[in-house]
Amino acid sequence: MLEVAMNSNPSNPHTNENDNRNTGSRQGKSKGKKVASFVLLFLLLSMIFLGFSWSRHRQETRMEAIQLAESLGSIFHVEHISSISREADGANEQNTDYQLYKRNLMQLKETTQDIDFAYLLAERNGEVLILMDSEPEDSPKYSPPGQIYEEVDSTVKEPFETGETVITDPVADRWGNWVSVLVPVVDEATGETIALFGMDYDAWEWKEGILVKMIPDVVVLISILLLSGLFLRMRNQQNELKRLSKRLGYDEAMFRGVFNQAPIGIAIMEGPRFVTKRETGHSTVNPMFQSILGRSEKELENVEWRTITHPDDLPEDLDQYEKFRKGEIPGYSMEKRYVRPDGQSVWTYMVVSRLTDLPDSSNLHLCLLQDISARKEAEAVLEESERSKSLLLSNLPGMAYRCKYDWHWTMLFVSDGCYELTGYHPDDLVQNRRVAFNQLISPRYHRILWEEWNQAIEQERPFRSEYEIITAGGERKWVLEVGEGVLNARGEVEALEGIILDITERKQMEEQLRYQSEHDLWTTLYNRRSLERRLKEEDDESLRHKRALIAINVSPMQLLSMIYGFDYSQKALKSVANVLSSLCTKDRELYYTYEYRFVFYVKKVESREELEEFTQEIIKKVKGVLASDRINGGIGAVEIEARQKTDSSEFVDELFQQLLIVSEQAVQSNEKEWQVLFFNEQMTETIQREEVLIQEMEDVAKGNRTDRLYLLFQPLLDVKSGRISKFEALARFHSDAYGFISPVEFIPLAERTRLIIPLGWLILQKAFKFLCELNEKAEQSIAMNANISVIQLLKTDFIEEFIDLMQKMGVSAENITVELTESVFATNLADVNKVLEGLRSYGVQVAIDDFGTGYSSLSRERDLHVDCLKIDKSFIDRLLILDRKQTIVGDIISMGHKMGHQVVAEGVEYESQFDYLRESGCDLIQGYYIGKPMAKEEAEDLITDQWTEK
Ligand code: C2E
Ligand code: CA
Ligand code: CA
Repeated sequence: MLEVAMNSNPSNPHTNENDNRNTGSRQGKSKGKKVASFVLLFLLLSMIFLGFSWSRHRQETRMEAIQLAESLGSIFHVEHISSISREADGANEQNTDYQLYKRNLMQLKETTQDIDFAYLLAERNGEVLILMDSEPEDSPKYSPPGQIYEEVDSTVKEPFETGETVITDPVADRWGNWVSVLVPVVDEATGETIALFGMDYDAWEWKEGILVKMIPDVVVLISILLLSGLFLRMRNQQNELKRLSKRLGYDEAMFRGVFNQAPIGIAIMEGPRFVTKRETGHSTVNPMFQSILGRSEKELENVEWRTITHPDDLPEDLDQYEKFRKGEIPGYSMEKRYVRPDGQSVWTYMVVSRLTDLPDSSNLHLCLLQDISARKEAEAVLEESERSKSLLLSNLPGMAYRCKYDWHWTMLFVSDGCYELTGYHPDDLVQNRRVAFNQLISPRYHRILWEEWNQAIEQERPFRSEYEIITAGGERKWVLEVGEGVLNARGEVEALEGIILDITERKQMEEQLRYQSEHDLWTTLYNRRSLERRLKEEDDESLRHKRALIAINVSPMQLLSMIYGFDYSQKALKSVANVLSSLCTKDRELYYTYEYRFVFYVKKVESREELEEFTQEIIKKVKGVLASDRINGGIGAVEIEARQKTDSSEFVDELFQQLLIVSEQAVQSNEKEWQVLFFNEQMTETIQREEVLIQEMEDVAKGNRTDRLYLLFQPLLDVKSGRISKFEALARFHSDAYGFISPVEFIPLAERTRLIIPLGWLILQKAFKFLCELNEKAEQSIAMNANISVIQLLKTDFIEEFIDLMQKMGVSAENITVELTESVFATNLADVNKVLEGLRSYGVQVAIDDFGTGYSSLSRERDLHVDCLKIDKSFIDRLLILDRKQTIVGDIISMGHKMGHQVVAEGVEYESQFDYLRESGCDLIQGYYIGKPMAKEEAEDLITDQWTEK
């Protein structure tokens, strides 16, 4: 990791160096050009200067030569020259002038070093003669006087004409190469040039002379050249120095930058200690190093690395360091902990290596640190999570798996729980070694599961399914599988993962509940709910025919219970059920819909006669069982015309209502004999009765003679304290026309007409009023349960009005419980919950009435916002006929408690029921065993007695 970090430093020194080199060579080239042009310029200037100097010195030399010649020329006198000239035929050597001048000339040549030849020339007849020269007569260069100067050129002749001194350019003649100065000797009288005095300089020497004179100039030039060279070199060196120091600056800045900002700690150490700033003048421990160790550079001056190394890591570090120190290894790296000043240790990855390239680096080494505590922590967390995962897996009530997405569900991993669940060891299942998981699945689920998985994968959602497996021992078990597809990087399913839990017990209870909710347990016949569903599900085929519901009302059998006891009556009931069952065919189904009420659902009815015949058959059968006890009953029939749909709840309710009315009347109208009534005949009367009742209830709702609606109060016993702690308010109606009416008849009527809303408020008002009166007398507060119809509950502003009424009447919310039948949750869950939440926020309690009869909502029980469950009477009844192992009342109580609810049992009539319920921890008990619904005076007495008794 460290290596990576170190190499991944993005600043690239190579590129910089290349740049430097490039700019360097570019600079070099331009410098070369500059130097070349400078040299060229210098050469040009030097040439100009030398040329100039040459011409100046030449001019000077010429002037000097002319001056010399002219001053010497002045020694010649015209007369003498004339005399010499006249005798210039060679005979004049005796001439004294000649001799004098000859001597002078010779002397001149001798004494004047530069002059090689001096002479006098004259012109005669267009020819130039040599009058004399400076040579002795034996000299090869000697010319006798008067000798014609043959090589003469036009320059020599010029002074004769102009009378001006002339200096020639180098001229060659028989004696050599010369520069001649020719001075005319002028006769003042005539102004004629009578002779020329000439001096010859050797051309080479002449040039040499000039060159010698130029030496200082050349010296100056060379000096300038040298100085410039020197200057250039110095400048160059200075530039190089500047460039180097700039580069050094960059290098220094880069080093400092890296040193100060590197994400790894860097320190220079000497043996056991840190090299200090005092010794080197600058930091040798970078900020990251300091931050990793939690110590400043200053603090590090006084510690040795071993004293801040974690004791557990020290031995290995010392061991490695010793080898390193002896030179056995070039360096080492390790993961180690340092201890910070606060005692915390920090995990690091450390690299130690020798510091080379330093003059005295024998004992110095470089220490690089990387903080790896985060990684170490992650490793620890991972380890912990692995540990807890394995703990979880080993305690899972089932198995966790990873399998291939194939038809066999080929297992790749199976947790240990597999054995307990399936009876196979994990090894048996993995890779289908002994058995493929698919073989464990009950065959009827093979295709279903495959398709469900496919769907889950396709829709990218978790898979969840319940199915049956067959264990190694042949046992069937219900399991719940929850899983998910594991996708690889390309989004393809790599495997499936999930858990499989044993839910056999829950399934059994559910099955039992379902069975119970659809059946009457004692008679084992389907119940009213099943019939309801059956009617709603009816298909087109059966709609083509007339159908009928035939109710057999044997309610007088209740007498048997009173005379001979519950057991006896129940056995008789079972016999009735058995004989009726014998009449069932494909088109005649039997249901037990209500206490002591059976219903035949008859399909494909041809005629009324057919039905009448059938009812006689029924009567014959039932009589066979009941005649000895002299118990009679009645039969009510409701016909459903062909094509009449029965898929609406309202119509089904209406059918049941009709059936109830017609069968009640069949019993009531003649208690001596069995009677058969068909609904049609009774319809008018029933409708009439309903109309009258509705009329009377409307009247009450308007506030007229409200005493017709009154309440009875049924006590609820608190099992723990053994006292009556509350009453349930139960409505009664006393009709002017029909006398006493059961709530079973008038409440549905009031609901149908929505009169239940005003009547409901009237009932609440009466209940609250009585509650206040009670609590004035009671020593401990008494509470009240009130039944509320969902029609009233869902009316807007229900909560506000309820709370208003409560406050107006002066009752406190804690003493009020609202009872709602379980069935209302099935349809309006969300709306109902909202109202219940509202009520509960004020402290009003909520109870589910008739709990257990609406199977569908049991599984959603968690979703209901209630405080209390009232177990339906039908469950309590069964306590008498089932033994304790068969009943689920105890389970319901403990489940209710688990969910934090209070549990009430209703319809408790016998001591044995009471005992069972008390032992099962039921909180409250209601029923005739405790007390029947009673008038308020009676209820008041009950409470006062309760307190005087104590
Ligand atoms: P519920 O709320 O389940 O009331 C319990 C019913 O069982 C009452 O019948 C009560 O008299 C009866 N009962 C109580 N203990 C026993 C017992 O030990 N054995 C037997 N066999 N029966 C017992 P009731 O008074 O005829 O009421 C019938 C239903 O009418 C009530 O059932 C309730 O759903 C409805 N109801 C009664 N009063 C009101 C009311 O004020 N408002 C509304 N909306 N419905 C009401
Ligand atoms: Ca109730
Ligand atoms: Ca109830």
